[in-house]
Amino acid sequence: MSELTGRTALVTGVSGQDGGYLAELLTAEGTLVHGVRRGTGPLPPHLAALGDRLVVHTADLLDPSAAAALVREVAPDEVYNLAAESSVARSWSQPVETALLDAVLPAAILHAAAGVTGTSGQPVRVLQASSAEVYAGAGVTPQSEATPVVPVTPYGAAKAHAHHLVQLHRAGGVFAVNAVLYPHESPRRPPAFVTRKITSTVAAIARGRADELVLGNTAARRDWGWAPDSVRAMVLALRHSEPLDVVVATGTSHSVEDFVAAAFARAGIGEWRHLVRSDPAFWRPKDAADLVGDPTLARTALGWSTTVAFADVVGSMVDADLALLDA
Ligand code: GDP
Repeated sequence: MSELTGRTALVTGVSGQDGGYLAELLTAEGTLVHGVRRGTGPLPPHLAALGDRLVVHTADLLDPSAAAALVREVAPDEVYNLAAESSVARSWSQPVETALLDAVLPAAILHAAAGVTGTSGQPVRVLQASSAEVYAGAGVTPQSEATPVVPVTPYGAAKAHAHHLVQLHRAGGVFAVNAVLYPHESPRRPPAFVTRKITSTVAAIARGRADELVLGNTAARRDWGWAPDSVRAMVLALRHSEPLDVVVATGTSHSVEDFVAAAFARAGIGEWRHLVRSDPAFWRPKDAADLVGDPTLARTALGWSTTVAFADVVGSMVDADLALLDA
């Protein structure tokens, strides 16, 4: 690990998929990370491994004043607001919690950040984890930073509110960045997401522990990237010379069915269609047909590109789920 740089970052949602990869990346380069999470149980091993480079705060971020107090108290150089109700599916059944976490919390953070000076003497910078879902109803493919913000889900609506607030605070002088994240996966993705549901079920079928995979809309297309790549883009975006909105995407979409086919192939199962069943319970009131981002700005302004191809994203998730079963 490098020497500490004196830079301090506050990461909300540190116990999530992205929070973990981000804390690993930042601490490895010598940044002291203050991570916020809701629970109080033992830390997952990848966070425990970071030792005293990670200071964990427990706070209920449904209470926006708790987040604001942390921003003022820690006075970090960088805030990465990753805490969210991150499941679009759950946002239909939990619209109030979604609004509080995905819209009110960013409002509190942005408001508190105005006027805070970080440990390195510069005004604090804020990165908001915005989402492809803000463009879901725009009827344009691929989507770019210029695409109109037209959400079609409670999740998208809340993220859109935060997206606009970032732009308003930026106009008011806060260094605030929207990283417009397309779905990004890894073996740490929770099974509420279709990718991990597919890989964990396919692994279970391969080991004789499940006999079918039950899904909803398999025609939906998503631009699935690799979570550590997306997290790297967040850091590059926050450290850009000017605050900006930037789409973080691979530029290619695949259908849920493509993902299923790739997962069965990786697990060595050739004939799979009879193993997959459709259930209306997993269909949503509204679902974007094709979310695919144009990563031109990320490439030109940030020098960012993806390092893991779709087949390898699926492959590494299937391999990890097989290894969990074989352990
Ligand atoms: P999202 O893109 O953030 O909503 O991430 P998800 O992984 O939850 O869903 C991705 C796509 O998979 C959406 O178009 C869903 O409608 C579709 N999908 C199809 N079957 C399922 C399922 O069983 N679970 C989930 N979560 N999504 C499913």
